[in-house]
Amino acid sequence: MKVSLPPGGEKKVLLHSCCAPCSGSVIEDIHKAGIDLTVYFYNPNIHPQKEYLLRKDENIRYAKKIGIPFIDADYDAPRWYELTKGHELEPERGERCGLCFEMRFVRTAEYASLNGFKVITSCLGISRWKDFDQVTRAGVKAASLFPGVSYWEFNWRKNGGANRMTEISRAENFYQQQYCGCAYSLRDTNAWRKKNGRELIEIGKDYYAQEKTLESPCFVGISPLTSLPRF
Ligand code: SF4
Repeated sequence: MKVSLPPGGEKKVLLHSCCAPCSGSVIEDIHKAGIDLTVYFYNPNIHPQKEYLLRKDENIRYAKKIGIPFIDADYDAPRWYELTKGHELEPERGERCGLCFEMRFVRTAEYASLNGFKVITSCLGISRWKDFDQVTRAGVKAASLFPGVSYWEFNWRKNGGANRMTEISRAENFYQQQYCGCAYSLRDTNAWRKKNGRELIEIGKDYYAQEKTLESPCFVGISPLTSLPRF
């Protein structure tokens, strides 16, 4: 996909990445555009740690293959739970997700500010299971806290981006996560599976090369915009 120029025509970008499948085509597009790209992995929302490490290691593998720097940030999960306290029962795309995006983007923007990046962006909005506008609002808000840092609002999902995401995931045989990431999304996806007679999630089991159907990364199983039952 041909990408527009980042804000201010910048040629150096810090990409917040949540996982290899969601970032694969974004990394490819930005790299091919001749932009100096660094991947920033800060995702303390991911639970359990085994899943966190699986997602991170796949992302490191792909960044190494492309030859771009990868910043491995903290796994400060207790802070994530503190920040999302009181929002445990909300469905996806609710307030908890907004807080979760903001937490990750604020740390990304802070790193950018301290390390000479003027532009940050994210692949979180590429998944059709995410509210693109909610992701963008969080990115813009986070960047605004650090003078001189802007959020690049490019929609990586459009113009074939979502299809390319799946192609790369299959070609690279990425680990295929079955839920968004946090303990609450794991709980809710399993509750949906149980209700629909499907087997519960087994961490570390699924990889793209084995998949039989075209599914989007990050969240497989619950139809978009379905409100999950409250527990
Ligand atoms: S469902 Fe996903 S975006 Fe929402 S809080 Fe959990 S990990 Fe974050």
